[in-house]
Amino acid sequence: MYVYAHVNDLFAMNLVLFGPPGAGKGTQGSVLAERRGLMKISTGDILRDAVRAGTTLGIEARKFMDAGELVPDSVILGLVREAIEDAGSGFIMDGFPRTIAQAEGVDAMLDEMQKSIDAVIVLEVPDEALVKRLSGRRSCPNCGSIYNVYFDKPKHDEKCDRCNAELVHRADDKKETVVRRLDVYKQQTQPIIEYYQTHGAPVHTIDGDRGIEDVQRDILQILDR
Ligand code: AMP
Repeated sequence: MYVYAHVNDLFAMNLVLFGPPGAGKGTQGSVLAERRGLMKISTGDILRDAVRAGTTLGIEARKFMDAGELVPDSVILGLVREAIEDAGSGFIMDGFPRTIAQAEGVDAMLDEMQKSIDAVIVLEVPDEALVKRLSGRRSCPNCGSIYNVYFDKPKHDEKCDRCNAELVHRADDKKETVVRRLDVYKQQTQPIIEYYQTHGAPVHTIDGDRGIEDVQRDILQILDR
């Protein structure tokens, strides 16, 4: 137990996994979090949990999410502060920040906590691939397994291979909403890359249009440099 904690401390880093919706941030973030003992902070997951639980936050957030729009910055920054306080020795942010105001807000928060962002990893994937990845995505509401009707079909129609539950197509993965989400990314989120470049956090760009293991290997190589 002592050795395990010690090894994880060596890798303690605060990372931002950046990229358009469907670039693979969630998948890469989960694998990396497990490998490096970091906490993954996904604002999308936090919001979806709130929607599922039917909380006031969830009911409010859902309207924005289903339309492919961003949830207001003030709401998101409150959620992230709590998550960072819980994160302890290192975190990976997935799907956050998504606006310059969020990037500035979290910088101020981290300053207060005497923490900082160690690296920003940008996953690049062409738009056509993103549309297929997102609009083809089906997820299991029971065990969380993810499939894709184009590249990674479930064995039996639209049922989960692992637990046989009926798979769902997220409202925000419908084609029109996907197109809107990509537009919102270009207008409001992409400018954050320049923000980090001018504010000193190292930014590394990776070709995300490859298999999960290839992308993960590149991320690990960057972090180990
Ligand atoms: P994701 O799973 O990260 O693509 O997030 C799904 C949806 O949740 C987004 O389309 C937004 O509506 C909302 N969302 C997630 N993270 C944020 C954020 N940092 N700022 C604003 N809205 C967010």
